[in-house]
Amino acid sequence: MSDTATLEIQPGRLFIGGEWQDAASGRTFDTINPATAETLTQVAEGGAADVDRAAHAAREAFESDSWQKLDARKRGRLLYAIADAMEERADELARLETMDNGKPVREARMIDIKESIDCFRYYAGWADKIDGDVIPVPGPYLNYTRREPVGVCGAIIPWNYPLQMAAWKVAPALACGNAVILKPAEQTSLTALELARIASSAGLPAGILNVVTGFGEDAGAALVAHPQVDKIAFTGSTAVGKIIQRQAADTLKRVSLELGGKSPNIVLEDADVDAAVRGASMAIFYNTGQACTAGSRLLVHESIRDEFVEKLLKRAAGFVPGDPLDPKTRLGPLVSQEQMDRVMGYIEQGKNEGGNLLMGGDRVEVNGKAGYFINPTIFGDVTSRMTIACEEIFGPVLAVQTFSDMDEALEIGNSTEYGLAAAVWTKDVRKAHVAAHRLRAGTVWINTYHNLDTASPFGGYKQSGYGRELGRHALDLYTQVKSVWVNLG
Ligand code: NAD
Repeated sequence: MSDTATLEIQPGRLFIGGEWQDAASGRTFDTINPATAETLTQVAEGGAADVDRAAHAAREAFESDSWQKLDARKRGRLLYAIADAMEERADELARLETMDNGKPVREARMIDIKESIDCFRYYAGWADKIDGDVIPVPGPYLNYTRREPVGVCGAIIPWNYPLQMAAWKVAPALACGNAVILKPAEQTSLTALELARIASSAGLPAGILNVVTGFGEDAGAALVAHPQVDKIAFTGSTAVGKIIQRQAADTLKRVSLELGGKSPNIVLEDADVDAAVRGASMAIFYNTGQACTAGSRLLVHESIRDEFVEKLLKRAAGFVPGDPLDPKTRLGPLVSQEQMDRVMGYIEQGKNEGGNLLMGGDRVEVNGKAGYFINPTIFGDVTSRMTIACEEIFGPVLAVQTFSDMDEALEIGNSTEYGLAAAVWTKDVRKAHVAAHRLRAGTVWINTYHNLDTASPFGGYKQSGYGRELGRHALDLYTQVKSVWVNLG
């Protein structure tokens, strides 16, 4: 299936007001296939002038009668039509995602593309159920609330789940009646552009979904600063989330932030070891560790440490880096040279700070190409002060620590600045729930890892951000509440 030839990749242009356009500057940049380090195509390098055009197009489309008067059920039908059209092209979208991002095509098809389609269907169902309340106020008054769209929403997304991150923002925003300007990550623009093509063919009015490709400091920053943009929904690093929050203050934009993580995966002494080993390896190696919820800190009870690590090393050896277009491949490359260099830097730091490198730690060549592959890497004897135990690495690098009782495990688990996800493995139902309540994270898994569903809320505690995407909670991000008083006297 390594048939790049069957997939003709067009140069990426901006999609503004229903039209494909070049950047005002005329500039483009290369998008690279991380499995081969070869250029796939060129993408328009959008900047402030392009964001300005997109913001005006989105504002005009948002305020138009044709959008304002479109009844909610018809809006829902548009979202169903987008989902159906994505499904028809699902295999092609999966291959495109794999070539642009490097993730194994099987995962792209079974997870990224499938979940993106589910997301559009789920929010299609919500479109005509976004209702208000009638409040029993004193006096001769009728008081009721309306949930109205926020307006023009800017969505800035990362490269690790390109289409899925777009869907998480675009689908609820449209269901709630907003217009959207999507700024994909510069590493992975292609499926966002396909989403715009699909949505437009499915009948979404011009200007309701715009895509401005380009770099964060230019296109992204311009979107955050633009006075015609009412809200920014951001997924990305904590460092950039802080910049966005500061810059959004000038126009008092609403902001929701899904940021980084350093999630603890805690194995208590009574855990089903084989199940926990399977869970721990998937927790860190899925998507080559480039998951915000990656279980990058494995905390194992000291009494089962040796048995656990022995089984883990065997299991991890099954994650062999390979051609991501091969459906058998389970470990793809890192997304970019920059990301690979960053991860290799952390591996060096882990060694220098006294981490015990149990496996991996080096680059590998696949099919004789200069792709960005790193072996599954596991460090033992890690302590909480080491950099590899504190900072988000975003690669296939696991730090193993031990603990002597659950209190200590929870203390270590809660000891980073992040709070995105956590997991606990135990057969004791009481301990499982006590741990779930005490872990300061937006998602806690018990005897499982990495489960997500479009119906279930997702988001961070602490410096992993705020706001909840998915489920009905996302409707709060894309609506504002109006209170209406009627004098009945
Ligand atoms: P990043 O923060 O570098 O970039 C994310 C997006 O922000 C990109 O589109 C980028 O162009 C844009 N950007 C960069 N600088 C900007 C600026 N000054 N103003 C406006 N936009 C700007 O993150 P990344 O490297 O693309 O992605 C990896 C990060 O994303 C990791 O930290 C990961 O944990 C996080 N992530 C979080 C979640 C979540 O839901 N919490 C999900 C996926 C990824």
